Amino acid sequence: MTSLKGIPAAPGVAMGKALFFDSEAVSVPRRPITPEQVSAEVLRFEEGLIKTRHQILGIQKKVSEELGQEHAEILNAHLLVLEDQSLREEIIQGLKAHLLNVEAIFNDVIRRHLRAFSKTEDEYLRERTADIEDVRKRVLRNLLGQQSDTLAHLEESVIIVARDLSPSETAQMHRSHVLAFVTDIGGRTSHTAIMAKSLEIPAVVGLEVATKRIQKGDFLIVDGTRGEVIIDPDPPTVKRYEVEQRRHQEVNRQLLQLKDLAAETLDRHTVVLSANIELPDEVPSVIAHGAAGIGLFRTEFLYLNRGDFPTEEEQFQAYKTVVEQLKPHPVIIRTMDLGGDKFLSPLRLPSEMNPFMGWRAIRFSLARPDIFRIQLRAVLRASVAGNLKLMYPMISGVEELRRANEILTEVEQEMTREGIPFNKDLEVGAMIEVPSAAMTCDLLAPEVDFFSIGTNDLIQYALAVDRVNEKIAYLYEPTHPAILRLVKRIIDTGHAANIWVGMCGEMAGEPVLSLLLLGMGLDEFSTSPVQLPIIKQVIRSVEQSFAQSVAEQVLKLRTGKEVEAFLLASLKQVAPVLVE
Ligand code: PEP
Ligand code: MG
Repeated sequence: MTSLKGIPAAPGVAMGKALFFDSEAVSVPRRPITPEQVSAEVLRFEEGLIKTRHQILGIQKKVSEELGQEHAEILNAHLLVLEDQSLREEIIQGLKAHLLNVEAIFNDVIRRHLRAFSKTEDEYLRERTADIEDVRKRVLRNLLGQQSDTLAHLEESVIIVARDLSPSETAQMHRSHVLAFVTDIGGRTSHTAIMAKSLEIPAVVGLEVATKRIQKGDFLIVDGTRGEVIIDPDPPTVKRYEVEQRRHQEVNRQLLQLKDLAAETLDRHTVVLSANIELPDEVPSVIAHGAAGIGLFRTEFLYLNRGDFPTEEEQFQAYKTVVEQLKPHPVIIRTMDLGGDKFLSPLRLPSEMNPFMGWRAIRFSLARPDIFRIQLRAVLRASVAGNLKLMYPMISGVEELRRANEILTEVEQEMTREGIPFNKDLEVGAMIEVPSAAMTCDLLAPEVDFFSIGTNDLIQYALAVDRVNEKIAYLYEPTHPAILRLVKRIIDTGHAANIWVGMCGEMAGEPVLSLLLLGMGLDEFSTSPVQLPIIKQVIRSVEQSFAQSVAEQVLKLRTGKEVEAFLLASLKQVAPVLVE
């Protein structure tokens, strides 16, 4: 029995067999063939190439339409590899000489070239290795009839072990056989972790050595609450965790009984508890956990795991169904936050050195108003279906906010001309998640109807700690005095300008921080549906004046650790069952 310690990403306990997942790997079978079968293998190879060529041309067309010709040209290198006559000759010669299936021959030949390319002094050729590697996998998958989205089609219940998982791969686990997952890299507020929470799949990330220490088929216990993974546990440990699993389920069952009760303090101060979602399918869980609306709909997930952009109609349908189901509660639709750790998987955007500080969120939308307008039209159309609000991600200053609002006004005018109905009093808010926005929120407030604090990013930018990097996860401190000051400033400034202030970062779902946020006067807490009953329990256990005094005292402390210890002790005082 060995135990590994990582970063708790999504709560709950799961037990099961380990299955390794590597989105990149393609295993290549080797089987002998007879000389008579050579021509059939050549034919199969030709068909595989044609299929691959069609796929690449299709992607190229979409990239060109949606991102511009210069991005599409990146794929020319792929086409050149497919059209290379000498490579074809080499494969045919290889088939005749070695009498092996074409996948094996193709793989050997390409690998040989890759090795030669990676050693060359010529930088251009060295850079082509990634393109050739991509073509190798595409051709092999086509020859083998494989799909790359295996996570969605697992045959039995397993625990996924991976070096890393992208948020879009995690999204594929929806309704699949994944009991839990563990990864070597990643952080607490990575979108992979957030997605796991939404799907209610226990997860531990940032284990560093999981893929080295765990063997395929090992029996594992994943404790997503504590961030622990136990390999090959002894029977008493299994028993202990079975008890733990039942306790977890029992606590959740009891908390769910709070579902229909108000989110109010003992002295009747009410806050709004709403949920964060990534996909429309999560709405039943939102309702089951008693949310008073959706405080963050991460619409970019509609854009992932596909080769094109969702159409206006498709987006309209998605927004409309969510809004209708939540009616009369509000649904805050955030415009797409692509970039950072959420990439348009099949479209090859140029890679960036610092994607979180790069072409992301509102920056992408403002650079591509054609794509942005389609989303705004869909949102506006859905605005008459219920209580819909709109919000922009990653606003860094007044100019950006004004530009986004200008485009929104243009789209509204266009729709008025077309006679398409929309809510003319649509509430529009800004996420405050960039330190420059936090510092100038007094200038932003007059231009919006509300603020929603995105602490996941605010913390990473303010503390200079990459939210997906496990090596520096210890520095990612929501309780750092700098963060508390920023949050207080945003809440106070919003209130002074008569707008409400919510929080949709993971901080809003941490029971230990609830007293503090309540005491600071936060109006809305938006988090993963599973966390909502716990937060409600904290809120219902205190008087607001107690929370205010906690906030006052905490603001005088000097380190994140001191703040955390103080908050934990305060929580223990009011809701001991929530503190183990
Ligand atoms: C945040 O940054 O806190 C936030 C809610 O947005 P996201 O996690 O999608 O970046
Ligand atoms: Mg964010």
